[in-house]
Amino acid sequence: MPTRTPIRATAQVREEILYYCRESVRCGLNFNTQGNISVRLAADDGSEAILITPSDVRYDAMTPDDMVVVAMDGTVLEGDLLPSTELPVHLAHYRRRPDVQAIVHTESTFVNVLGVLGRRIDPVLLNMVLYAKGPIPVMPFEFSTNADFGRRSAELMGDDVNAVVWANHGLLAVGVSLKLAFKVAVAVEENAEVLHHAGLAGVPSILDYARIDIPAGARLP
Ligand SMILES: [Zn+2]
Repeated sequence: MPTRTPIRATAQVREEILYYCRESVRCGLNFNTQGNISVRLAADDGSEAILITPSDVRYDAMTPDDMVVVAMDGTVLEGDLLPSTELPVHLAHYRRRPDVQAIVHTESTFVNVLGVLGRRIDPVLLNMVLYAKGPIPVMPFEFSTNADFGRRSAELMGDDVNAVVWANHGLLAVGVSLKLAFKVAVAVEENAEVLHHAGLAGVPSILDYARIDIPAGARLP
């Protein structure tokens, strides 16, 4: 018998990931088996792991038990399926940002329109500036399945912004909860669509997070 970790994923967190996977399709952020989601898990002894979606499973066929528990060094601790191929990238982002509790990777259309043009996504909508902060940088295209890509992706995103675009591929969004990471992904796609159309019609007015007077209680992590 392999040594079992004290870190276990509850049914609740497994269900939550599945819920947001299906939401990502319903909201038009992902198609087919694209995208992936993970959540950081912590044990009482301070050790950590993540729970991540499996590789190449259709969301309508996915079950809570298909999620995979993986140690921070990449060792699979629990689960019958292979973890997402972007596991090393998720782990690199968790290592860089201790505040990040969840990651949502999507491949939505207007993020990709701006990504293939190599254009960073400037905030033009209130929702995006509140959730993602922004501007969202763009990483030049390369395969996103290794730790070095993940380290540079996390470095480019930095500590003050909650998303990064991978050119010719999609978006990685982070949050202090899965709910917030998902809201970041939704907000960035909506913002990218408006920014694209507004840019065709004229010169959009850009919001600067640092200069917005955000009322007490409205500032998000
Ligand atoms: Zn992808």
